[in-house]
Amino acid sequence: MVGAIERCVVLGELLEARSPLTGAQLARRLRADEPSVQAALSALERYGQVRRLLPLDGSAAVFVFESQREREFVRCPGCGSVRAVDEHPLQLLRARLRERLGQELSFSRYVFAADCARCARDDLENPGARPGRS
Ligand SMILES: [Zn+2]
Repeated sequence: MVGAIERCVVLGELLEARSPLTGAQLARRLRADEPSVQAALSALERYGQVRRLLPLDGSAAVFVFESQREREFVRCPGCGSVRAVDEHPLQLLRARLRERLGQELSFSRYVFAADCARCARDDLENPGARPGRS
């Protein structure tokens, strides 16, 4: 059982980070054991205070404060950074999918994968440095 103090500490760190974090990242930042942090995150999720987001590249789930739930996020597979994105670029994708499928799709529980500017530049300068990239 995770206590209220542990939940508050985890929630406070997530708010202070101002970006989605994995349980492992939160544990490192708090210098706490990861199972306790994961238990606190699960409890916070049940109480509706945090939302678990699933990266589409299959990497570890990240957590955001519930007020960020309508925002959408992109994770860089190169460095693992996750950032919120303006939803406008995704509106075009949504509109095209709505035309094709006749359904409105929501991406608020998933994290897109795309190289950040720094990793894209590194790939151009050092082609082949990252496995699976050319
Ligand atoms: Zn990157």
